[in-house]
Amino acid sequence: MRSEPPGPAWTGGAEPADATDPALETVRPGQPTPGRPARVGPGADEGFADLDGVGRRQRHELWMSRALEVAVTGPDSVPADGADAIEDVPVGAVVYGPDGAELAIGRNERELTGDPTAHAEVLALRRAAERLGRWRLEGCTLVVTLEPCTMCAGAIALARVSTVVFGAWEPKTGAVGSLWDVLRDRRLTHRPEVYGGVREAESVALLRAFFR
Ligand SMILES: [Zn+2]
Repeated sequence: MRSEPPGPAWTGGAEPADATDPALETVRPGQPTPGRPARVGPGADEGFADLDGVGRRQRHELWMSRALEVAVTGPDSVPADGADAIEDVPVGAVVYGPDGAELAIGRNERELTGDPTAHAEVLALRRAAERLGRWRLEGCTLVVTLEPCTMCAGAIALARVSTVVFGAWEPKTGAVGSLWDVLRDRRLTHRPEVYGGVREAESVALLRAFFR
């Protein structure tokens, strides 16, 4: 069911406020913060983090390319002609281990499986945990083509994922800065580093092509 056309959503826009930045304590999560760079999270302002800035960005873009690929091609259970895959909104997620090795992938399978929780992120987290033999995914990075929803943000936090990289902002349901800021809520002790808007144009184009 191709409901909820994107309309004016996914237009990019200003970087939402960082809930972990003390300077922004009076700004509600999700409020635009013009001029903020597309990087947020604990330690992101520290000098050593910037030394690797260029390499990190390239790595994130490379990983996002893989997630975009997964959004279109995954999972393996989908027929080669893509007849069933086309029913699901193309969202892809990849979990990378602390060493940068690919651990697991997930594609939104809600329509395919009839499972309301079968979002790309949840499926990728489950498979990564299964592969590692533990639920704690510390040191791991989750890369997803669309800003996670509340359920997925909750699952990411519970899995202790260290870094989240996402492509398109999702103003209507996004829970990592747009509508809510679950991952960067100052009241939580575990707050992953978040990088939003990575390969945003491609992520948006993929969704637009689906809803067209
Ligand atoms: Zn979700």
